[in-house]
Amino acid sequence: MIDLRSDTLTVPDRPMLETILSARLGDDGRLDEKGRGEDPTVNDLEDCGAALTGKEAGLLCCSGTMGNSAALLTHCGPGDEVLIDSLHHMYRSEKMAFSSRFGQLHAVFFDYDKQEMPDIDSMKRQMETHPIKLICVENTHNFRGGACTDPQRLKKIRDLADEYHVPVHMDGARLFNAAAYLKTSPEELCRYVDSVQFCFSKGLAAPVGSLLCGTETFIKKAKVTRKMLGGALRQGGIIAAPAKYAVLHNIKRLQEDNENAQLCRSLLNSLKLIIPQPSVQTNILMLDLSHWNGEPETFCHMAEKKGLLIKPVLDHCVRLVFYKGITKENAVSAARIIHDLDDELAGDMNHGH
Ligand SMILES: *Cc1c(COP(=O)(O)O)cnc(C)c1O
Repeated sequence: MIDLRSDTLTVPDRPMLETILSARLGDDGRLDEKGRGEDPTVNDLEDCGAALTGKEAGLLCCSGTMGNSAALLTHCGPGDEVLIDSLHHMYRSEKMAFSSRFGQLHAVFFDYDKQEMPDIDSMKRQMETHPIKLICVENTHNFRGGACTDPQRLKKIRDLADEYHVPVHMDGARLFNAAAYLKTSPEELCRYVDSVQFCFSKGLAAPVGSLLCGTETFIKKAKVTRKMLGGALRQGGIIAAPAKYAVLHNIKRLQEDNENAQLCRSLLNSLKLIIPQPSVQTNILMLDLSHWNGEPETFCHMAEKKGLLIKPVLDHCVRLVFYKGITKENAVSAARIIHDLDDELAGDMNHGH
């Protein structure tokens, strides 16, 4: 079975797990006068992540959702308006910051252009007409097929934010996949934002954790927010050690995942009914099934019978995600299975008419 449901499916290998046994541990919830916890492994990871993103400080969180939520609830208060895309993970999937029961932030939406990058004119229009308190970006963009926002566009967003004196938060769950595709450093991508969250548990293949990075002042406040969210981690070194291992060993191989997704896409040029996303940049490939009158769930069941596990996303799409352990051969086989399914669906449609 080729399982392309998500890059969260990676399980830690033995050397990664062994880092836990030798990790120096302490109580990360017990703070010194500088506000640092007592777990040296957590502190080391936070410093390492801060350096990677070019920020002053980092904060280990249990999940990307916790990192993003801590960021939004630190930048903003209840009732504040936030400029975001309706397909951003924070809005579409996490929801907590925008929930009337929890964060109570109000979403104001901007558009994406044909290159799947934030449309600056639409952002400007919203800034002019709403008292926006925070701008959000997502890099890579999960529900837009892993599309990247390049440094040029990020700079324009930064300029707009500066004009209105508002901060920018980047959901960089797959920041390193973006840096690999754009052939730039994560630091360059983070230069234009005030805070950034990236995941250890996606393509980096660690079992648990995310890092929120920003200025020292911001991270100090975010640490208070994180505690309210139940995220003070005590011997957090247990998760920081494999996360550090992931940073040291698994960043440089992400290009492979991007290439496998691109390879699979390149083999899907002659489909009859399924519409593959026009261009694949990183490790996500979406298939649009709206020309077929069946449910994406049904499609996924049919794929499973042929040895391919995939997941429905949005209303009429399915998503394939490539990650550590998925080979080139798997990418080729996945494309062959999609071709077989396409033949079947197109055949059924013809018989039906
Ligand atoms: C997975 C993901 C998150 C959240 O990460 P969790 O660790 O699952 O909470 C945030 N943003 C994006 C774009 C993601 O893909």
